[in-house]
Amino acid sequence: MRRAIASGHLSGDGDFTRACHAYLERSLGIPAALLTTSCTHALEMAAILLNIAPGDEVIVSSFTFVSTANAFVLRGARPVFADIRPDTLNLDESRLESLVTPRTRAILAMHYAGVGCEMDSILKIAGNRGVVVVEDNAHGLFGRYKGKYLGTFGCLATQSFHETKNFSCGEGGALLINDPRYTERAEVIREKGTYRTRFFRGEVNKYTWVDVGSSYLPSDLLAAFLLAQLEARDQIQARRKRLWERYAEGLLDWADDRGVRLPFVPGDREQPFHLFYLILPSRESRQGLIAHLKERGILAVFHYLPLHLSEMGRSFGALPGDCPVTEDVSDRLLRLPFFNDLTEEEQARVMDAIREFPGLSAGGQRRT
Ligand SMILES: *Cc1c(COP(=O)(O)O)cnc(C)c1O
Repeated sequence: MRRAIASGHLSGDGDFTRACHAYLERSLGIPAALLTTSCTHALEMAAILLNIAPGDEVIVSSFTFVSTANAFVLRGARPVFADIRPDTLNLDESRLESLVTPRTRAILAMHYAGVGCEMDSILKIAGNRGVVVVEDNAHGLFGRYKGKYLGTFGCLATQSFHETKNFSCGEGGALLINDPRYTERAEVIREKGTYRTRFFRGEVNKYTWVDVGSSYLPSDLLAAFLLAQLEARDQIQARRKRLWERYAEGLLDWADDRGVRLPFVPGDREQPFHLFYLILPSRESRQGLIAHLKERGILAVFHYLPLHLSEMGRSFGALPGDCPVTEDVSDRLLRLPFFNDLTEEEQARVMDAIREFPGLSAGGQRRT
């Protein structure tokens, strides 16, 4: 960051931004990556690039962050909410076919906890029906499905570098472009609808207004912060792996005894250790454990509220009961403290506090 300041180039697309692009392109093996001001903005860029317009539909899991749907709603699309699989908590591909209509333009695949969606099936259904797949890979940077990096399956994919993610610059994101036909227009949309990016590369001698667009590029100062984190990838990921495995091993017997489910990672997927969750037997026990931990100074939080039950979701005609697995899991899921500098002592304290929770009886019914 000191070097960025000394260089005098604090606006977007300086040396550090270019280094982040190169890092992402090289490590994921993709044609182009563009840093953005957030994952939300990368999703908005995707919706513009796909020419999403009023009357279009996009299929999105109900168990995701609002931006996955909102970016497309902003262009006038109607979100069609899909339920999730009870094991990975990802889009349930077995119901996907029935949600596709002649108006469907895109399927949004969000890889929950960085555990990949059923990409083979999703891509097949999308291909058969002439629909594109966009990955919201906010959780999944460096995760893999059958050996291939998440974020490299859809025509476009998005990353988040928000402070809650594995790699962060406070607020930031990236658009990953897997279909190079989108690259030139993505550069234009990101630079206020102009050829500014090509102008700075010396490819054109002026830049004028050629398309819709906005200002989606972050300051080079933030890119410098992010680059340092990306360069520490091995260290950060090794730490997160160790913390994740300590939770999984340390809580296995307790969870088994009390009907609590731990995260599930299919054998053909590599996860990037983004979060660690418990699925409690009931909403009451989940709320009880939150309160129990809070009394001990430990912050554990639930996660997404079903989008189809939200005020906005309902305005698109969604009804309670439309996505029963989402509704059930959303009530019972609890995320444990999990961040890059969580110490093993702190983690041990979290696990001790969980084991002391009196609200679940041992030998209880196992729930999946
Ligand atoms: C964090 C997150 C986002 C939004 O990221 P921002 O960078 O804050 O815009 C979008 N989708 C998912 C699944 C996320 O977890």
